[in-house]
Amino acid sequence: MMLWEAHACLPLHPQADFAPIDRYRAAGVNYVSINVGMDMNPLPQVLAVIAGFRAKIAAHPDRYLLASGVADIERAAASARLAIGFDLEGAMPLLEQPAMVALYRDLGVRQIHLAYNRNNSVADGCLDVERGLTPLGRRMVAAVNEAGLLMDCSHTGRRCSLDIMAASTQPVIFSHSNPLALVEHGRNVTDEQIRACAATGGVVCVSGVSIFVGTREPTAADVARHAAYVAGLVGVEHVGIGLDISFRQEGIDDDPPGAFDPGYWWPKAAGYDRALSRSTYPPIEAWRELASALQDTGMTPDEAALVTGGNMLRVARQVWR
Ligand SMILES: [Zn+2]
Repeated sequence: MMLWEAHACLPLHPQADFAPIDRYRAAGVNYVSINVGMDMNPLPQVLAVIAGFRAKIAAHPDRYLLASGVADIERAAASARLAIGFDLEGAMPLLEQPAMVALYRDLGVRQIHLAYNRNNSVADGCLDVERGLTPLGRRMVAAVNEAGLLMDCSHTGRRCSLDIMAASTQPVIFSHSNPLALVEHGRNVTDEQIRACAATGGVVCVSGVSIFVGTREPTAADVARHAAYVAGLVGVEHVGIGLDISFRQEGIDDDPPGAFDPGYWWPKAAGYDRALSRSTYPPIEAWRELASALQDTGMTPDEAALVTGGNMLRVARQVWR
């Protein structure tokens, strides 16, 4: 059984402590996608983070492996190592150049969003005014398909995500998104989006973030309940897990330099308030309980194994180059 964590967030700082990543390894997780930048992060920060994380992985070849394909994940699993890939949340670090997509791939990025909560010149964010995919956005989708990266629509505007899924020639994922039918939040996805994702052959990975899951201290059972909803709607072969745990670390400030307004990217009107209600998540070790929590919703062991990793493995095998 493969365990695939579709999204995790260390501090966006080259000196971030990799201890949480080692906890994923200890919990038996086989692959984790680590965020290396969002639309709010300037290019120098994104590049320094990629360099720092690559150096940490290279320094511990006994523990980690930077995955360039599914064969690497299988190789890592056979030697009790954790395979790692990077993800970008937004198109702004692409500098409006479709050719940048393949460059990030060569640096270890394996999945990419085109917008983060707010609109940019490429795509719409899910907490902004709806426009749809821009002409440049269509070229970016083609570049993502061509470069063999996973096209990710979490954080993307609803109509724009439907445009991306219609334009993509490859399966599209939501790496950390929960059903709106269970919890009303602008970051959660509609049944229409979930159906469109399944129609591409893709996977909706449900998160463990308290405000999206709708419980104050989310557990494996809460995550399984959200996974079971998606499975009931479109079939168990289109469900995955991306807990989206954000690891804050003492003494590390990863806010973008300069005039940074968190209220723009995480609007209070959408239920975000960094000062008052920090999100909570299940612990990393909840990964050990997910298979049985999924079976408690009525899935067979084989179906639970698809959700915890088999489905993302299938999609990556098809998409990654
Ligand atoms: Zn995110």
